[in-house]
Amino acid sequence: MYDQNNIFAKILRKEIACDFVYEDEKVLFFNDINPQAKIHILGIPKLEVIDFGDFILKADENEVKFFFSKVYDIVNKIDLDKDGYKIITNSGINGGQEVPHFHVHILGGEKLNHLR
Ligand code: 5GP
Repeated sequence: MYDQNNIFAKILRKEIACDFVYEDEKVLFFNDINPQAKIHILGIPKLEVIDFGDFILKADENEVKFFFSKVYDIVNKIDLDKDGYKIITNSGINGGQEVPHFHVHILGGEKLNHLR
């Protein structure tokens, strides 16, 4: 069950501040508090979904398309396309997921071989 008190739910409710990158009525992008690369942005949909599987099962096609299109908009906006980037989403214990609100990590700005 979705935990209403996870840290990203609190960020969405503006109970906790974040270093904001982009927001609209459906998505929020913000800088990771503990960056693993020169650029490390987190992207989340404004839906109560725990991980990638939960997002795919609960969101409709338009919401899925909208979210990943916004991910690509951010990639373009900060010019990551030129030199490349990684998009990562962790799920569950084996995936090492810490925050149980579906999110993608957008990483770039340097070579990322250490993140294989
Ligand atoms: P996960 O391991 O769940 O895929 O990633 C969670 C990410 O959230 C981690 O990279 C961690 O640094 C980041 N994070 C955890 N708490 C906060 C916070 O309060 N603010 C921000 N901006 N990022 C956070």
